[in-house]
Parts: sequence; structure tokens; C-alpha cells
Amino acid sequence: MSTQCDVLVRGGGVAGAAAALLCARRGLAVTLVEPGRSAFSGPFETMVASAERMLQRIGIADVVVAAARRDPMRHGAAWGAPEFVWRDGEPPGLLLARGAFDAALRAAAVAAGVRVLRREPADVPASALQFDARGRAAHSGAAPVERGPSLLAVTVVGAPHAGDAGTATVEATADGWIWTHAPDRAHAGAAVFVDGAHARRAGLSHLVARQLAAATGPARRLHGARIQHATDATARLAAPVAGVLRLGDAAGTIDPLASQGVEKALAAADHAAAVAAAAVAQPAWRERLYAAHARWEAGLWRAHGATAQAWYEREGRFAEQPFWVGRRRDLPTPALPAVDAPLTVAPAVRAITALVRAGADFVAQPGFVHDGTGEERSHVGFLPLAALLSLFASPAPLAAAVARGGADARLFVLPPRAVHAACLDLLRSGWLIPAVNAAGNR
Ligand SMILES: Cc1cc2nc3c(=O)[nH]c(=O)nc-3n(C[C@H](O)[C@H](O)[C@H](O)COP(=O)(O)OP(=O)(O)OC[C@H]3O[C@@H](n4cnc5c(N)ncnc54)[C@H](O)[C@@H]3O)c2cc1C
Repeated sequence: MSTQCDVLVRGGGVAGAAAALLCARRGLAVTLVEPGRSAFSGPFETMVASAERMLQRIGIADVVVAAARRDPMRHGAAWGAPEFVWRDGEPPGLLLARGAFDAALRAAAVAAGVRVLRREPADVPASALQFDARGRAAHSGAAPVERGPSLLAVTVVGAPHAGDAGTATVEATADGWIWTHAPDRAHAGAAVFVDGAHARRAGLSHLVARQLAAATGPARRLHGARIQHATDATARLAAPVAGVLRLGDAAGTIDPLASQGVEKALAAADHAAAVAAAAVAQPAWRERLYAAHARWEAGLWRAHGATAQAWYEREGRFAEQPFWVGRRRDLPTPALPAVDAPLTVAPAVRAITALVRAGADFVAQPGFVHDGTGEERSHVGFLPLAALLSLFASPAPLAAAVARGGADARLFVLPPRAVHAACLDLLRSGWLIPAVNAAGNR
């Protein structure tokens, strides 16, 4: 059988299976290669309820909800203080038995026309788009562009204490933190998170035992439970590879603290499918669209990194311990230039026909590119970029420029604070710079 296809997806985990499904729904011929090498973090993963809005928007909520089950566990955390705070009253998220969950996504992809193979086919057309959704396996041997502090997840399993059944807890300890799932039936599992370098010095099993013994919640009752495996859970942003679109964990792995890796993989599948539809319709756009996807993944990865760091900083009890010292040094927040000095448009910004996401698709429309980052934009939110940049045609402090916006018919549809926020976004992302810097560059 020939492998004529528009898109070849390597890796049929969450990101790859969902991308294959969404591409097929857009009428593309898709081949998905899944060799069955998945290595899951533990018996279950969870997805927070707030993710379901995004799943509805990308049209995959029905498939995801049918492949999972409503999370019946009571969720609580002891973070920043020894007492557990229970998230009672919040809507339940989803509980994912990952092997079965991924298989259900692949089955939905097959039903939509995707061909699933266990091995790479030999006759892939040169024109086919190549997606890399191999998860962490895609990072092996290549240095990341950016990375978080070393994080090792050690999975232990054991019989839950009767009083703990039906709970899911996160608990910070002096040596790291512990995610414990004690479902009402089957085994309890805990992911014990430690610093990789610290584990090498102190001995992994010793450090895990010490952490379980120091816990005060359900994890304490797993002291002595069997270590099943250890996974490198360090947050890593992979370097882009020419001619390949990386998505999900293959593009960037995030700290598991927020339980959002699956949500990120599904959002990436939607973005990748929009890229695929546009690149098949307009082959000349392919590399620009791949670059846009890589920037999108990097932006999401950095946003997750900032959130994880904020969480680590909320735990002040163990600030001097090696694990927690290591979490604080990461991701410095860049200082924003003063907004009361005159600002101007960066010399790297020029007008082009930009490729931008509009609803479910990519379209070409009048816009701008930042030559330093390659980013193409036509709007900031709902505000036309041309109108925003024209406020700084002659250098102006932020407040004066926003006041000028009140006289521009393209901008006064939204309140001045929206114009102010859009200008701050442009300043943060280097599209606006202090006029004194621009003069220095000339
Ligand atoms: C300890 C831990 C706990 C976590 N808990 C949660 C949680 O509770 N909730 C959550 O949302 N996220 C959680 N995550 C993150 C989540 O597991 C990942 O973000 C998610 O699995 C990413 O999906 P993916 O499809 O990108 O990659 P993966 O799920 O890793 O899928 C990659 C696929 O590629 C295939 N593959 C491998 N090599 C090849 C090859 N050479 N060719 C072709 N295919 C190949 C594999 O078989 C696999 O099916 C956790 C992560 C860790 C480490």
C-alpha cells in the first residue's frame, strides 16, 4: 500500500493522536506512526476542569471526555503550610488512564480516516509535512534551547491506607514535593519529585524514603512502598529542527506541578492542524508557519515556566534547602523599560503581508514582522497593529501615546486601558523600545 499523505505524524501519544485527528477532520491525508513505546508517569494523570473550555473551542471535548472519566477524587494541597487545603466545591476535572486514553484518541483518529502504522513507512512523499510528536524521546541527544532546574519524578506504588482512599494530594517537603493519587479502588501511586543532582549526591532511594517519611498526608502512609520507575521531568524547550514541526512534549516539556502537560499537548495539536491546513493549501508558506508554531510553543513553555516558578516561590518553609534554592534561581523576570521616557518603534519592525492566526485558520493580511524574532502580527488582541505603531511615529511616552490614540478612529472602539495594555505588550516583546536606544543603534 502506498503512503501518499499530506502529513506524517511521528508519535501517537496525546499530541500526535489529537493532531492526526484534527488534520484528518480538515480533509488532510494523515499517516501516524506509533511504535507503542509510551512510558507513562504512573497509573493516572489528571486534567483540570478549566481545560474543558479550550477542548470545546478546538472541537475535541467530546472525544476527550469519552476517553477519560470524571475525576472522582477529592483534591487537596499542603503547600506553604503544613495543613491541607481541600479544593471542595470546585468542578471535577478528568482522570486519565493514559494507555487507554491515548488508544481512544488514536481510535478516533482512525475513525476520521487516519492511517496508523507501527513503523516508519519507506515511501513518504517529499511534499508531506513532518510532525514530531515523540514526546520526551524527541529530546534525546540534543541540547535544549532553555531548561528549568533538574527534576526527577520517582513513581512509587502501594496499597492505599483506607482513610486516604478517594484523595489526590500535592504536598511540599524539605526535599521536593509529592503528588499522591489514592483512588477508591486499585493501588495508590505517588510521584515523588526530587532534584536530580541532589538525588545523585544523597542516593535516590534514600531521598525518596526520607521524603515519604517527612510527608504529613497520604504520601506518608506509602512509606516503604515499591519504587516503580524514575522519569526525568525537567522542563525543557527543544531546539527547532528545519523542516519539522515539533508539538507537545517533543517541542517542550513543562514542570508537572500544574497538571497541564496533556492540556498543552491538545492545544498544540489544534495549532499544528491549523498550520498543516494552511501549509498544504499554500506550500510557499510552510517554513514561516513552522516558525510561527515553534514561537507559539516557546511562548506557552515560558508562560508555564513562570507559573511553576511562582508556585515554587509560594513555598517559603524550606527556602534554604537545596531543592527549593534551585527552583528560585530560574527564569529571571525581565525588567520593563521606563514608560515615562519617549518610546519608538524598534528598527527591526517592518511592514509585510503577515501570516496570522484568525479563528481556526491562518490568513495573510497586512501586518508587520519583527526581524529579530521573526514574529509576524497584524493585531494586538482586537487592536490593529498599524494604528498602535503609528502612535509612536514620533517618539512619545506611553501615556502621551495612549492619549493620542483617543483621536484615532481605529483605536477608540476600545477603552484607553486596552490601548495601554497593548502598548505594554509591544514594549515587553521588543516591538517598541526607548527612543534613546534607537538613537544609540543608528
Ligand atoms: C511524573 C509526571 C507526571 C505528570 N502528570 C501529569 C498530569 O497529571 N496531568 C497532565 O496533564 N500532564 C502530566 N504530565 C505531563 C504529560 O505526561 C505530558 O505532557 C504528555 O504526555 C505529553 O504528551 P505528548 O503526546 O506530547 O507525549 P507522550 O505522551 O510522551 O507521547 C509520545 C508518543 O511518541 C511515541 N514515540 C516514542 N518514540 C517514538 C519514535 N521513535 N517514533 C514514533 N513514535 C515514538 C511514544 O510511544 C508515545 O506514544 C506528567 C509528566 C510527568 C513526568
